[in-house]
Amino acid sequence: MLCFWFFASGRKTAILFRIPLAAMSHVTPKLNAFPVFMRVEGEVVAIVGGGDEALAKARLIGQSNAVLRIIAENVEPELLAFIAQSGASHIAAAYDASQLDGAIMVFAASGDEALDRSVAADARRLSIPVNAVDRPELCDFFTPALVNRAPVAIAIGTEGAGPVLAQMLRSRIDQMLSPSLGSLATLAASLRGAAEKLLPKGNARRRFWSSFFQGAPAHAVEAGQLSQAHDAAVDLLLSNAPAVGHIALVGAGPGAEDLLTLRAHRLLMEADVIVHDALVPEAVVAMGRRDAERLPVGKRKGCHTKSQAEINALLVELGRQGKRVVRLKSGDPLVFGRAGEEMAALRDAGIAYEVVPGVTAAFAAAADFELPLTLRGVSSSMVFTTGHDLKGNSLPDWARLAISGATVAVYMGRSVAAEVAGRLIEAGLSPDTAVAVVENASLANRRRFHGTLADLPSLEERADLSGPVMTIIGDAVAGANFERSEPLAAHRHESAAKAAAAEVEE
Ligand code: SAH
Repeated sequence: MLCFWFFASGRKTAILFRIPLAAMSHVTPKLNAFPVFMRVEGEVVAIVGGGDEALAKARLIGQSNAVLRIIAENVEPELLAFIAQSGASHIAAAYDASQLDGAIMVFAASGDEALDRSVAADARRLSIPVNAVDRPELCDFFTPALVNRAPVAIAIGTEGAGPVLAQMLRSRIDQMLSPSLGSLATLAASLRGAAEKLLPKGNARRRFWSSFFQGAPAHAVEAGQLSQAHDAAVDLLLSNAPAVGHIALVGAGPGAEDLLTLRAHRLLMEADVIVHDALVPEAVVAMGRRDAERLPVGKRKGCHTKSQAEINALLVELGRQGKRVVRLKSGDPLVFGRAGEEMAALRDAGIAYEVVPGVTAAFAAAADFELPLTLRGVSSSMVFTTGHDLKGNSLPDWARLAISGATVAVYMGRSVAAEVAGRLIEAGLSPDTAVAVVENASLANRRRFHGTLADLPSLEERADLSGPVMTIIGDAVAGANFERSEPLAAHRHESAAKAAAAEVEE
């Protein structure tokens, strides 16, 4: 068996604990004890015991509206005082199973192992869940460390593994939460019926509650002004302002879910509707609320589901309906994302929007290649292009920039790879200029290729690349790490037509 040794040295002795590694490495993410909140109001909870253990449990259950029944012949003074002050009932007699009658929960807390065992056995026979103090093997349930802001409760459990850890967490959480949280939740509960009657389910209701818990009502409760809080909440409820639509043009990054920004994540969680492109992975779209509407709008080359004009009209329409929309685009929305047209349509229609940047494919590809896009003394500018403007007679500006040393990132460049290479060479860029190509940048199934400008045309012939492809050209590319990439020149088989048909485009 694989083991690791844990060395704990005292002043004179050294103790070696042999901890099976298997126990550490096969930590299962599944719980053996599942937390639930049980109704105890007006129900009997029996505690057998008259000492400290019983007192601790009595204090814990005393935070609820359960009816406490303490069963103990001899009771220590502190517990007696607790019984007197809490109004708990006390059976001052030797333990007998009949004393558990009618209880919905039993604590065996006598401190006497034999007695606790028989209490646990009796409870089980009577089908009453039992907790035996410090004897997890006899427990049907565990008691949590509790942060109580009734009606809000936060229960922390470690399945008995770390009571000290649970207490530490309890005190941290306790400090984080306003003491008035319970009052705020109580006020919320009193308004729930009215909110359900006055506000349609979904958008409007969610917006009301988010203003309630973060806005004027919450601030008034915090300041101890309960009646002002109530008035502010009623104002909010009756203001009946029509929902205002809002569109966020959000960059989803190159594919890896954890390259999404925190802001994108928050907006996704708030959105009523997510309008997304085909290149955005399902895992990112799935970060939205479960009840959010999801509208895929294309586009892969050859199977556009909606035209750009239709997408613009859809966004305007959703905005007019008062929806909070995330328009999710791969990479950065402002880089070959047709965001310009969508923003113009929204501006014309007077619909509020914002833009959330994302990691563009060129940056992800560069990172995958450890490729410095700017390199001191080699390249100090960078071009984002599609290469689709190289067809005419005049050379576009970016080609001149490439010749003067810029690093060039070519989006959607596979079907024009030969054209790009040919024209750049013709214009004076050395055929030996370094080229890096990444398919599926940032994803686990990415593939990296390296070569020279002279090898680049071979890209068009490759039908084995079915994912999106980024090409980076320039002297700075020579600074990349080619240890994990394949030579571009190796493949020259498949037909260019096939490769072009598979190309992914926005
Ligand atoms: N707005 C996007 C670009 C959309 S254009 C962005 O900022 O990244 C679509 C092109 O982006 C693809 O044809 C491909 O060239 C590139 N692309 C997108 N995701 C990519 C990825 N994970 N790996 C390589 N290239 C990618």
